[in-house]
Amino acid sequence: MYYGFNYKKGEFYAEGVPVREIANAVGTPCYIYSYSALKHGFEKLHSAFSDIEALICFSVKANSNLAVLRAFANFGSGFDIVSGGELFRVLNAGGDPSKVVFSGVGKTEEEMRFGIDSGILFFNVESLEELYVLDGVARKEGKKARIAIRINPDIDPKTHPYISTGLKKSKFGIEIERALDVYREAVNLKGIEVVGIDAHIGSQIFDVSPFVESIRKLVQLADTLAKEGVDIEYIDIGGGIGIQYREDEKPPPPDLFAQAVKREIANTPYKLVLEPGRVLVGNAGILLTKVLYTKVGALKKFIVVDAAMNDLIRPAFYDSYHEILTAYESDAKREKVDIVGPVCESGDFLARDRMFPVVKRGDLLVVQSAGAYGFVMSSNYNSRPRAPEVMVKGEEFFVVRRRETYEDLIRGEEIPGFLR
Ligand SMILES: *Cc1c(COP(=O)(O)O)cnc(C)c1O
Repeated sequence: MYYGFNYKKGEFYAEGVPVREIANAVGTPCYIYSYSALKHGFEKLHSAFSDIEALICFSVKANSNLAVLRAFANFGSGFDIVSGGELFRVLNAGGDPSKVVFSGVGKTEEEMRFGIDSGILFFNVESLEELYVLDGVARKEGKKARIAIRINPDIDPKTHPYISTGLKKSKFGIEIERALDVYREAVNLKGIEVVGIDAHIGSQIFDVSPFVESIRKLVQLADTLAKEGVDIEYIDIGGGIGIQYREDEKPPPPDLFAQAVKREIANTPYKLVLEPGRVLVGNAGILLTKVLYTKVGALKKFIVVDAAMNDLIRPAFYDSYHEILTAYESDAKREKVDIVGPVCESGDFLARDRMFPVVKRGDLLVVQSAGAYGFVMSSNYNSRPRAPEVMVKGEEFFVVRRRETYEDLIRGEEIPGFLR
């Protein structure tokens, strides 16, 4: 059981609140985040790095709810963003722009301007052409854009191909062999101030060695640059720390990860930047859903629930595994089932061939590890209003995003005159 969630007296609780109570108040499906779990997770990682100069920039794309962002801002976190929309969210949540790093291969000029005018810490530049465009935008604003160059260190993090980002064939970053030339170019641009080196090699990484390998390459490059008179202040090692989804998985504990990282950077003049997403929120959230029907097919048994791939796309998209529990302790006999949603796609499943206790219509189920890449990747496919998000703190819960209505679904749409 993950921090902040537990069975008490036979019922599943988020902190001090039975999830049944939340279901009664806001309906299902619904996302539930534990504030204490967010705090605990951040503090664990933060304290693991407290003996060196390190800035943790929570990766906003993992969970961008304003309340979650405000919580991290309160904990002292910075933010890693990949769009102007995420910057807007961070500012609205009260995040400190001077602790924001802006990543992504396809920043628009508007996004660059927004970042420069907000006074962010630095941009992670991913191509030579982007560097020139950013230089132009900054000069037009009469400012300098602080930058790190995102290096593609060509390291295999041994994770799902969709979430490997540091391989030669990847669209991300600049090959390390060419990086030196790009830096030499960057220091001559009037609108650019070089401050860092960055890499992000992938996600859901269990092994610390790819991180170590990556940092070594970054430090080496920074040292080379120093000899040429280019001073690097920050080494940004990206995110990607893996978390437990299956009961038998053992990701590296934060202090072990930190030890390995610190060994590489402690005796250098560089400040460390981290961009963790999943590890800070993944297991701090659940998706609560209700059984609509149980159904016996020709070859399989199905549990049809009211949460679908539009609510949580990870199983369909990455073939990823989420533990699912009943919201009450059950000693019913187990049978092999597929747990599926109502969306008209065969890919719409939350679990396949899972041994699961016999359930009945109306039973509540808990999809674990749904705090990262859950709600943020949800959509309105099949014209399903998006689920609400709830934050629990102690004995209280707060709706931090209300359930969408049918009106929300058609907001902004218009039937042109010629059809009237
Ligand atoms: C997605 C992303 C992250 C966060 O990755 P996690 O696996 O969630 O830690 C960090 N940095 C960049 C550039 C990213 O794209």
